[in-house]
Amino acid sequence: MEIARTIAAAREQVAAARRAGRTVGFVPTMGFLHEGHLSLVSAARRETDFVAVSIFVNPTQFGPNEDYARYPRNEAADLEMCASAGVDLVFIPDVDAMYPAGEITTVHVDELTTTLCGPCRPGHFDGVTTVVTKLFNIVQPDRAYFGKKDYQQFVVLRRMARDLDMPIDVIGCPLVREPDGLAMSSRNALLTPDDRRRARSLHQALCAARDAIATGERNAVALVTAMHRVLERAAPEHIDYVSVADPDTLQGVPRIDGPVLLALAVRIGDTRLIDNMVVDPTGPPA
Ligand code: AMP
Repeated sequence: MEIARTIAAAREQVAAARRAGRTVGFVPTMGFLHEGHLSLVSAARRETDFVAVSIFVNPTQFGPNEDYARYPRNEAADLEMCASAGVDLVFIPDVDAMYPAGEITTVHVDELTTTLCGPCRPGHFDGVTTVVTKLFNIVQPDRAYFGKKDYQQFVVLRRMARDLDMPIDVIGCPLVREPDGLAMSSRNALLTPDDRRRARSLHQALCAARDAIATGERNAVALVTAMHRVLERAAPEHIDYVSVADPDTLQGVPRIDGPVLLALAVRIGDTRLIDNMVVDPTGPPA
């Protein structure tokens, strides 16, 4: 496995793979890797010949009062996990390499960023779309893999690639959970034992709504109320939003008459957690 710390080194490694006729898969991450990240690597390994992972905690996607400084980091463990997962290249730039200062260009996706996490995290998606554009231009992959854990991020990036004619297949991979249902996340390491117990309420709320849909509930307000009730039992510090939305436009829907995105964001202790589930009332259970 090669490790590149500069943009030039990353480009060189990918160019060598391309010269050898290999297709390139790319998994962008912020590190502190877990099984969720590795599921993306597995998909990339199945579908492409050369797998690049980036590890970069991107400062521009964090708000001034968010957790950039305390975001968990462990480079040695990440590199070990990448090596055993069969990753070919890890691109692990520092902030100066990615932002040498003076940047005045931002990539902005409209509409899809005005709902769900958008209003709670001003500037967040601009940070994501801009850094992913930079990473795409550096790695120039054939296929890039994102988790549906960050469902809105996946939808935004898929649209960005389409609208800007980026010649990259943006692939969404299934959300990976802990045995008790909690969505795997690097941020779970920030939870105290009490927070961790209370964090189960996110998945429990989604399951309650899914079950209500299965038994015939079609009213979005009733589903939102049911999810709130489950969340509030765990006494969260704050509920940012609970939403029943169209899985493509991410806009709220009043009634369920096809596949629907159940999505929520909650602060437990000092940690903001998100979770979601797509439920199709006409299809098999999620
Ligand atoms: P992050 O390091 O949190 O920025 O995540 C990097 C990539 O891994 C993103 O595409 C995430 O959606 C994905 N990811 C993170 N957690 C999970 C999970 N539990 N299941 C599936 N994908 C995940």
